[in-house]
Amino acid sequence: AKSAGGNRFELADPEADARAITRHGLTTALPAALERGEFFIEYQPLVHLGDGSVRGAEALVRWLHPQHGVLGPDRFIPLAEHTGLIVPLGRWVLEQSVRQAGQWCERAGGAGPLRVNVNLSPCQLTHPGLVQDTVDILERAGVRPEALCLEVTESALIGADDDLLKPLRRLAEMGVDIALDDFGTGYSNLANLRRLPVSVLKLDRSFTQGMQQFPADPVDLKIVEGIVSLAHSLDLAVTVEGVETGAQAEQLRILGCDTAQGWYYARPGPPDRLHELALVDATG
Ligand code: C2E
Ligand code: CA
Ligand code: CA
Ligand code: CA
Repeated sequence: AKSAGGNRFELADPEADARAITRHGLTTALPAALERGEFFIEYQPLVHLGDGSVRGAEALVRWLHPQHGVLGPDRFIPLAEHTGLIVPLGRWVLEQSVRQAGQWCERAGGAGPLRVNVNLSPCQLTHPGLVQDTVDILERAGVRPEALCLEVTESALIGADDDLLKPLRRLAEMGVDIALDDFGTGYSNLANLRRLPVSVLKLDRSFTQGMQQFPADPVDLKIVEGIVSLAHSLDLAVTVEGVETGAQAEQLRILGCDTAQGWYYARPGPPDRLHELALVDATG
């Protein structure tokens, strides 16, 4: 319990204690893990709902921990945010993903361009190097800004002032797409959307879950329909995440959503698989 930072309540619960020690252990192991190259990225395809073509993929980071095996981002991203390691880790993810997008585009030829979506944590948003790092990474990889979409959660932008929005505006002006991630979970003022330099709304998985039955709950349908029409009237594209069944995909397509992501199409996987999916798609 000492190593957990002295939370005395954890002494009474051995399991919580073990979790806390792991948390502490993981936190201290993070910097060396980055140096040793223990992180890797899986890519999950983004599929156009109208014609079923693969348009790109979201980069999702994993940690191949020498003792604990593969750890998902929910296990270590909060720790990296807490210690500030998210800044170099996030930069690494961005660099890898942009290079990967460059390779996809090069190899895809007529099937391209394939774009990459990268998650940005709130700490990266407030880090002064964000714009320059992104410019440098795109240049080094020879990738056009249009091939990159940065995903920022709705909650990170709630009540955002101009200082926070400035770097995002600059990136958007360069041609980088900005997506509002987990949209619909953050209770944000819809009118606020006009102020934000975003071009994509990523509708949270909770909405997709409401489409599991066919036909879906009429209230859920109305809500999604309203969001889609609002988004389109503001010139925003709508991406839906967590699509697990064909029925969901069909209802979301009818509702006018533009792009979808989820297990129904593909689980997150290695980068070459995306290339195969896109190529198969383009050659029939
Ligand atoms: P997210 O941005 O909302 O990413 C979508 C999550 O939903 C991913 O979980 C993905 O594997 C999962 N998912 C995809 N399709 C389905 C589906 O059909 N059904 C269900 N039930 N789940 C699906 P994952 O990979 O565990 O990532 C969790 C979160 O970690 C992400 O949520 C994102 O917020 C964060 N994350 C991942 N990579 C990074 C990164 O490089 N940087 C930062 N800052 N955060 C990251
Ligand atoms: Ca995301
Ligand atoms: Ca999301
Ligand atoms: Ca989510």
